[in-house]
Amino acid sequence: MAMKRKLDVPDDRLSSLDEHGHHIEIEPASVSGRYRRARDWAYFVLIVVFLVLPWTRFGGEQTILLDIPARRFVFFGLSFWAHDIPLVFFVFGIMCIALSLVTAAFGRIWCGWACPQTVFIDRVYRKIEEWVEGNHHERAKLNRAPMSWKKVRTWALKWFLFFFISTNIAHSFTAYFIGAERLLGMSLAAPWENWTPFLFVTILTAALLFDFGWFREQFCVIMCPYGRFQSVLMDDNSLGVLYDEKRGEPRKGTEEEGHEHGDCVNCYRCVSVCPTGIDIRRGTQMECIACTACIDACDEIMLKVGRPEGLIRYASENSIGGGKTRYLRPRTVVYASLLVAFIVGLGVSVARRQMIDIQFIRAIETPYTQKVFDDGHVEITNHYRIHLKNQYTDTLTVSLAIAAPNPGVTLIAPTFPMRIAGNETQKTHAFFTFANALTATTGRQTISVEASFPLDGETLIEVVPISLVGPFGNSADENEAASDGKTESGDETKAEDDE
Ligand code: SF4
Ligand code: SF4
Repeated sequence: MAMKRKLDVPDDRLSSLDEHGHHIEIEPASVSGRYRRARDWAYFVLIVVFLVLPWTRFGGEQTILLDIPARRFVFFGLSFWAHDIPLVFFVFGIMCIALSLVTAAFGRIWCGWACPQTVFIDRVYRKIEEWVEGNHHERAKLNRAPMSWKKVRTWALKWFLFFFISTNIAHSFTAYFIGAERLLGMSLAAPWENWTPFLFVTILTAALLFDFGWFREQFCVIMCPYGRFQSVLMDDNSLGVLYDEKRGEPRKGTEEEGHEHGDCVNCYRCVSVCPTGIDIRRGTQMECIACTACIDACDEIMLKVGRPEGLIRYASENSIGGGKTRYLRPRTVVYASLLVAFIVGLGVSVARRQMIDIQFIRAIETPYTQKVFDDGHVEITNHYRIHLKNQYTDTLTVSLAIAAPNPGVTLIAPTFPMRIAGNETQKTHAFFTFANALTATTGRQTISVEASFPLDGETLIEVVPISLVGPFGNSADENEAASDGKTESGDETKAEDDE
């Protein structure tokens, strides 16, 4: 039989563990109050955004799509490809620094107000539990009751609803990677037609069931890395959910005889509502996820006993000790400056990103050919494969030309001007012909090719350097060394024979 949790939290272990280290289920009491109402709204908005976003479109594409097999990532109409990975440096940097700044200023506000673990457990799974099993007293009674048909029926209903919610969350999450409409089509087909997505959704559903249905606060307390290093990011000016010891102590029942007790009436209401089962009166603790439930709970009690609210409140160690909270301090200034620098870096990198990615890859089997005419002059031809990627969402018509100054090279690209749909890649061929005198000195000559395309009433041009190769000296036969099969950037390239 499951062991009952004591509200008098032990000193030497987590309140969710018994003396043998076995898990004791925490059934937090429900609470009402201003923070509860605010959190309910915040959680509702976050859940709706998470579920609806994959079904929305922006600029003709899914608003956020992380298509890993195609190595294409779409954010609000902007497409990013594998070669844009350096931008991830800025994105991760912004996320880490923003979290550090928010933690330094407002403590674990992320955990209590926006972490999916808290949002889904508190707003969805616990609500289902309350609806099916009743309030925390009834839940505790049921958990500790011997097995019966009633218990089996109640648990079966609860876990069925948990499964239904978990599978919906798993599908919505997967839709960010596969595309909502594509996933819907896959869901209607037999599993063996799409084994990988089917297994992914199944495993994710099982993980969500385990975590949100049973593991719960243990993830925050035992596993979450952010919880581990939050103390490094916080100082005495960081806000947190704190108990005003000066006001509350000595709590009722601990006062000396003939003396008044403090404002804390020792009712344990703050402990009974805590989802991680801690007693906030013991000071800042790693297990506190700053969910504010104990603030609302204590405010209720203070109203009842006719004392001012705020015995437990959002405060910094400095302010609760009678001083002032300093928001502007070296730590926050450094984090804010870094954040601005990273945001600017990301903005500049996105603005300067090449939207037409064009690569010329020399055909390795025939780096050049030569043709000798009757009059003795020799014409050299270089064969290139072209990989053209349109990173816009609009269809473009791309033209190619040799950029000035043209040292006498003719471009033969019969497939150009080429229409290329948004977010598509095309592969084609081009040939460059020139007189052998062009490469006679070094065996190489660099030229520039312009890829131009009209967009929004303007003609945009991207310039690509190409290294032409040919014989140096008087005869092509003298120097096969020039035929080294390299791209214009000098990288060894095996152009795939794809056409
Ligand atoms: S809810 Fe308030 S009064 Fe009751 S034990 Fe907690 S701190 Fe003390
Ligand atoms: S101590 Fe208060 S704020 Fe912290 S987790 Fe428990 S109820 Fe939430």
